[in-house]
Amino acid sequence: ASPDVAARRPHPVPAQDFGTTRGVLRVRNVSGGFRRNTVLRDISFDVLPGECVALVGESGSGKSTLSRILIGLHREYRGEISWCDEPLASKASRRSRAQRRELQYIFQSPFTALNPRKTVRGSIEFAYDLTVGGNAKARKRAVDEVLSKVQLPASLAEEMPHTLSGGERQRVAIARALVTEPRLLICDEVTSALDVLVQASLINLLDELRKSEGLSMVFVTHDLALVRSFADRVIVLNGGTIVEEGPTEAVLGAPQHPYTVSLMENTL
Ligand code: ADP
Ligand code: MG
Repeated sequence: ASPDVAARRPHPVPAQDFGTTRGVLRVRNVSGGFRRNTVLRDISFDVLPGECVALVGESGSGKSTLSRILIGLHREYRGEISWCDEPLASKASRRSRAQRRELQYIFQSPFTALNPRKTVRGSIEFAYDLTVGGNAKARKRAVDEVLSKVQLPASLAEEMPHTLSGGERQRVAIARALVTEPRLLICDEVTSALDVLVQASLINLLDELRKSEGLSMVFVTHDLALVRSFADRVIVLNGGTIVEEGPTEAVLGAPQHPYTVSLMENTL
């Protein structure tokens, strides 16, 4: 990735500083899905540095398919995706080491997201070794640092995932993503399996990290109410197309599309 664009920047970063065409992530005319099932149709959007874009739509609207395309785990699509003005290969293994490091994905389910055979420390170390790499001392320091960033006690490092709560597991998943020093975090329904209070504290954590780490975020959810205090911009996905997009306050305050209106009636 081009280092000048990719350099860490403090949040919040006004979008206009980068000009209108210099989105960190740029998605253009992406259509795709599964063999006989076109899930996404002509999707285009940008994610600017430090920006949190919420991708909202009902279950089945194609959010996870799009997330997996962005991360290089789903290859059946047409269209172009670039990251800091460089094309992103459709297959993760064809992407540069820097690209793989900079785009991280946090899975929906806190119960399958972690390797059940690895301790918390082991899982985070594994991600560190694959991406950043460093000697034993640097590795230990990196793990301890990300655990504290996600507000988990250091003692939890030697636990196995099955001993953790859902919220703790998602924090470990976030720590594992952070240890790679990402620039964009794609969070796919990361709070859906959690109860309301745990949801709120996880959202707060993500919001804090976004600011302190200068992260961009694609926050995928079926729950429009969740994004109100958190996202800069909302993209509404219905049946695989974008039906509405705009600043969060504008979309939630005065939704233009009937589908967004119905989503709001159902969730707020
Ligand atoms: P969302 O995350 O918004 O709930 P998904 O991207 O998971 O939506 O799914 C979008 C559509 O793709 C759904 O209609 C679903 O049935 C279909 N789909 C998901 N996975 C597969 C698969 N492995 N094979 C065929 N169709 C699939
Ligand atoms: Mg999904």
